[in-house]
Amino acid sequence: MKVPLLDLKAQYRPLKKELDEALIRIAASQYFVMGPEIKQLESEICSKLDVSHAIGVSSGTDALLIALMTIGIKPGDEVIVPTYSFFATAGVVSRLAATPIFTDIDPVTYNIDVEDIEKRITSRTKAIIPVHLYGQCADMKPIMELARKHNLKVIEDGAQAITAQYKDGRCAGTIGDIGCFSFFPSKNLGCFGDGGMVVTNDTELGDLLRIMRVHGGKPKYFHKFIGGNFRLDTIQAAVLSVKLPHLDAWSEKRRRNADLYNKLFLKAGLAEKTGLTYFDDNNKVQLPKAVYEDLGLKNHHIYNQYVIRVQNRDELMALLKSKDIGCEIYYPVPFHKQECFEDLMKDPANNMDFDQYPHADYAAAHSIALPVYPELEEQQIRHIVKTISEFIQT
Ligand SMILES: *Cc1c(COP(=O)(O)O)cnc(C)c1O
Repeated sequence: MKVPLLDLKAQYRPLKKELDEALIRIAASQYFVMGPEIKQLESEICSKLDVSHAIGVSSGTDALLIALMTIGIKPGDEVIVPTYSFFATAGVVSRLAATPIFTDIDPVTYNIDVEDIEKRITSRTKAIIPVHLYGQCADMKPIMELARKHNLKVIEDGAQAITAQYKDGRCAGTIGDIGCFSFFPSKNLGCFGDGGMVVTNDTELGDLLRIMRVHGGKPKYFHKFIGGNFRLDTIQAAVLSVKLPHLDAWSEKRRRNADLYNKLFLKAGLAEKTGLTYFDDNNKVQLPKAVYEDLGLKNHHIYNQYVIRVQNRDELMALLKSKDIGCEIYYPVPFHKQECFEDLMKDPANNMDFDQYPHADYAAAHSIALPVYPELEEQQIRHIVKTISEFIQT
């Protein structure tokens, strides 16, 4: 049985008519840049997330970059980021000639380790970028408390977590100063190419983000600031407005798939419970833990990825690939081990050492993401769990 990691055509099929009509409408209008669809999508996102300002941008990476530019990150500033995330989270900091300072992660949620943030704050620290990895919110309350105490900005990387809720019910991206989202096709809400969004409840930041999106000019051709071309295409906004009403149902199906995986792994006797940190003889598979599950929230986790940890990960991955079962490692190399950050690690001023990231190293060595997309079928999940059980028990 062939199972892809993601099946975009299965999502497209039932929406084909509406999506095609949207594309043809934009083609007929020839209004490709900042058409009315942009404002429309921005207002839909504001109501969906309950946030005051939403600004469509060119990608999730550009969302992070424009956010850092807008809060005034300068060369020499330090920005604290988890060492375990998609590259963009740290890359954007370095692109502004600022220094990303890496923290370890929480071994249960894979999100930023809050205690480690505090240890790394210096007089040069200007911001923190918590990432809501795999579709579950980082622990924002203590992060916001630390940020207020030390006068730091918080930029949330919600690329994998649009509509995911923190324990107080607020949506990812609406708690810090600016929230960043990606509409890359593999995200829960994906467009037909690259796209992104920044959101904020701060009117001053919202106005500035809109100016920075068009090279920092206001009025046009008069520049108090240096921004960039960070615009979202009209075509992408039109596609996203068709898809947005379906997002909650898709997330529900992702949760249902994740729950079935957990149930089947537990039943197979490969694990005793979800959210275990380390292996022992009774726990051959470590299952993900939805830490806000029992709070009665609608979207306590949106499972952009369903990630387990196993002892012989690379062997399992080779086996799954040989059986045409899609899987991926998010992420094989944490930032502290990336070649491009070698100089940062060596510089004593940054106080970073290779032995300070045990949980991220462990995750990088043992984690593997399995298919969890909404259209996945129950028999496919059963087949995957059976394949993994056989691998582990032999
Ligand atoms: C996808 C992703 C990004 C970047 O988004 P793009 O739209 O691909 O530029 C940033 N951070 C995280 C955590 C992501 O998963």
